Amino acid sequence: MADLNETHDPTRRSWVEAANAPDCDFPIQNLPFGVFQSPGRAPRGGVAIGDMIFDLKVALDAGLFSQSAQAAARAACAPTLNALMALPPRQVSALRRDLSEVLRSDGPDRRRIEKMAGDLLVPMQQASYRCPAVIGDFTDFFTSVDHVTRVGRIVRPDSALPPAFKHLPMAYNGRTSSVVISDTPVIRPRGQKMRGNGDVEFAPTRALDYELEAGIYIGAGNALGTPIPLRAAPEHIFGLCLLNDWSARDIQRWESVPLGPFLGKSFCTTISPWIVTSEALAPFRVPAAARAKDDPLPQNYLQDAADRAEGAFDIDLSATILTAAMRSKGQAPARITLTNLNTLYWTAAQMIAHHTCNGCNLQPGDLLGTGTTSGPTDESRACMLELTAGGKQPLKLPDGETRAWLEDGDEIAFHGRAHRDGFVPIGFGACRARIAPALSA
Ligand code: MN
Repeated sequence: MADLNETHDPTRRSWVEAANAPDCDFPIQNLPFGVFQSPGRAPRGGVAIGDMIFDLKVALDAGLFSQSAQAAARAACAPTLNALMALPPRQVSALRRDLSEVLRSDGPDRRRIEKMAGDLLVPMQQASYRCPAVIGDFTDFFTSVDHVTRVGRIVRPDSALPPAFKHLPMAYNGRTSSVVISDTPVIRPRGQKMRGNGDVEFAPTRALDYELEAGIYIGAGNALGTPIPLRAAPEHIFGLCLLNDWSARDIQRWESVPLGPFLGKSFCTTISPWIVTSEALAPFRVPAAARAKDDPLPQNYLQDAADRAEGAFDIDLSATILTAAMRSKGQAPARITLTNLNTLYWTAAQMIAHHTCNGCNLQPGDLLGTGTTSGPTDESRACMLELTAGGKQPLKLPDGETRAWLEDGDEIAFHGRAHRDGFVPIGFGACRARIAPALSA
């Protein structure tokens, strides 16, 4: 687990002025990695600082990194970050230490470095983002007891919680070809579903939904046949992003019995462009969510005292909606979910330990979704299925519109922010996308 060090120092400021604003997602204490392109710059790795992207290739060519950070800096310049993710955490940490030195307002070389700012920094509004890794596999978990309980009541009135839920972090193997970066339109999928009158039809989904989740990027992988023990699992978490596991509930309901999610999920998954590293998140680790007294004791491979003590992340997560009508009237997006990643029943490390307990190998750049991050309160319901009780109680929006499910033109945006007294809060940027009409048949 990453330790606290000078890169988390709350007094540290950057000479990139926007990074010092109290509400900025990307202060010098964050330094997340992503892949961007801009006019004249081919896709390459960069680091978010304030409202700018720090170009790692320009910095490497200018000789700004020390010997200990060279290997990580070279890997981080690439158009995909898998090689960076595969490195031992201490090498990624050495790069973070150098980045903090180069960008701090009171660094010894500030004058020389700031003169290169025109080359080193790209304004975010001039850039577009790429998927930051070749994602070999995507696994979506199902770890919020509140989500599972509410959904259970809606779709299976007889059995609210699946029997295995409190024994293991449940998941399904997802699809990677349709994982897309923020701001890629989501085309309303067509599919098979059963109508209320019992007829089966093939048509655009009428029950399009979002799921507010965090994504976990795997760093170093494991050899096939060699499980990752729970106590070692934090070392395999490269970092986190925001993830929207879009769902077509009518397609999902019809196709899922008994094998689980398929086309109701695989049409699109949206991720935020920046990966907030494990090291940046070190100050925001908190105890794993409490278990009820009569909950079963997990098997030994899912038990670890350090994981109980600091295996969860205190990250506020929100979802907003902006409908076409709201947009045309110049209205602000309306918040429909406010939750926290610390409510999940299972920790990220437990997900990794369980995923590999049968010998399954994870690889650098693999992506795990935490599952819908709903908490116990009404405002923390993190998908429409919960917010509208399966479409039966439409959501009222501030401009008078209602939504049972998402409609064409609706834009859903997620934000995340980690905070703790005595530390500078850090954020994730946006995970956002707009619904486009179904393609003609
Ligand atoms: Mn999901």
